[in-house]
Amino acid sequence: MLDRDLQQLAQSLPIVNRFIQALPGDHSGDDSSRQVFGACYSDATPRAASAPLSVAYTPEVAQLLGLSQQLCQTEAFSHVFSGKQLLPDMQPYAMCYGGHQFGHWAGQLGDGRAINLGEVNAGGELWTLQLKGAGRTPYSRHADGLAVLRSSVREFLCSEAMHHLGIPTTRALSLVLTGDKVTRDMFYDGHPQQEPGAVVCRVARSFVRFGSFEIFAQRGEQALLKKLADDTIEQNYPHLVEGQIDRDTYVRWFGEIVERSAHLLADWMRVGFVHGVMNTDNMSILGETIDYGPYGWLEGYDPNWTPNTTDAQGRRYSFGAQPNIGLWNLVRLANAIYPLIEEAQPLEEALARYSEVFAQRRSADMAAKLGFAHYKDKDGELVEDLLRLLQQTETDMTIFYRNLANISPQLLGSDICWEHLAPLHEAYYQAVPDEVREQTCAWVQRYLQRTEQSLQSQGESDVDRVARMKAVNPKYVLRNYLAQQAIEQAEQGDFGEVNRLLQLLRAPYDEQPEYERYAAKRPEWARVKAGCSMLSCSS
Ligand code: AMP
Ligand code: MG
Repeated sequence: MLDRDLQQLAQSLPIVNRFIQALPGDHSGDDSSRQVFGACYSDATPRAASAPLSVAYTPEVAQLLGLSQQLCQTEAFSHVFSGKQLLPDMQPYAMCYGGHQFGHWAGQLGDGRAINLGEVNAGGELWTLQLKGAGRTPYSRHADGLAVLRSSVREFLCSEAMHHLGIPTTRALSLVLTGDKVTRDMFYDGHPQQEPGAVVCRVARSFVRFGSFEIFAQRGEQALLKKLADDTIEQNYPHLVEGQIDRDTYVRWFGEIVERSAHLLADWMRVGFVHGVMNTDNMSILGETIDYGPYGWLEGYDPNWTPNTTDAQGRRYSFGAQPNIGLWNLVRLANAIYPLIEEAQPLEEALARYSEVFAQRRSADMAAKLGFAHYKDKDGELVEDLLRLLQQTETDMTIFYRNLANISPQLLGSDICWEHLAPLHEAYYQAVPDEVREQTCAWVQRYLQRTEQSLQSQGESDVDRVARMKAVNPKYVLRNYLAQQAIEQAEQGDFGEVNRLLQLLRAPYDEQPEYERYAAKRPEWARVKAGCSMLSCSS
């Protein structure tokens, strides 16, 4: 049975080894932690899990790869996607990259707990399969290359939640328990515990990061830098190639990375996502969200908030800091690829576009979040006043915007008072002081005036406004406490909640009456609970 299913898996997943064939690799077979020179990757062997058990998979990603649902439910699937069993054509490898961590050059990092299995050719599109948590590689430094269940559940669910929110991201195919225990000191406070180990299979068109280029630039490995850049452009940015790849191609390429990154950051800000560790090794060259570690979702609107305890002092990667950090990271990439262009001006011009693109997207998003057909300059004040107001009393960002759609423009005829704003009341975590109530009523008055003007000028009805708002203001996000509850059940062997969240988060903008309770604000007990409001990098 196992053998037959393995054969079928191999037939369904035509593996090509494009990346490793196109680029120089380290084939020494030495799997000790070390500096790897002259290579984009090292051969690596996934660790054999002792009792692999698949506990969740995503039918959409399976379909993307041409994998039947039936095969996803086989023992063979658990074996392959835990790394225990390789399919015949797989030549696993770990990628070499470096990065700036918390503002400082950190040298070589690389895939310390990720092993790529190769690309699947699905109708001409190449999808790289990557196992996260499948054991040590030459890039593991002092760590074990493993991942615990809690961080794997978080990565698995959030990748898919992001995708369904319409935000570029790496995908997740599967969540497999390894049957092995992993020791972790969750808060680095001398209390290590044994936790269940798990492996997530991530899927993306490329796992190349900003840090993949930085490492070669820092080491002066220019030939390798050029090879990787050319390969990335040919594979992932083919529309930029007109004949030979030359200096202008690199400039256009960088320009597009800048644009994509600006859009990505605007997307995160729109939905209240905080990545938590925006180091340059965690920035995808495709402008996708990558590496879900101590991320979190804003509950009370607070630009200063970060879920990452490791960053609690500096708050370098807090919600409000993210757009600027995106630019900071792009400057590091510009420096890294400078040797390909040898002129600062075109790179500086491209970088200057970041703030423009971000501001345009942000304005358009804010207009849509408020239901206006277009953004007008004077909306800036309305938006700023709202954001100030949201911070005065702890206000749930997701619920506030979602429910603002339920405030009717018909209120305009009356003297707006707090009771009229009942749909917004559930967004508050605290009693709202009279002063804030008054200011909110005054703001809604201005908001509805602007709404009426927008509707009239467009010949729209309120139905159009509501539809526009609901298309950009999600009702369901992966609230930190929801993920934590699913994790706690999973740790008891019950994956019902993980699968329920996966299902629910497939349609985050839809009303799903059966899941109404998942749209509720964070319960009070979760305010200071580990995993719900505080996370560490340890995984
Ligand atoms: P991160 O900031 O979590 O993306 O990880 C930074 C670096 O640490 C990367 O090179 C990871 O591969 C490596 N790393 C993180 N956790 C582990 C682990 N458990 N074992 C080996 N390497 C790890
Ligand atoms: Mg990383």
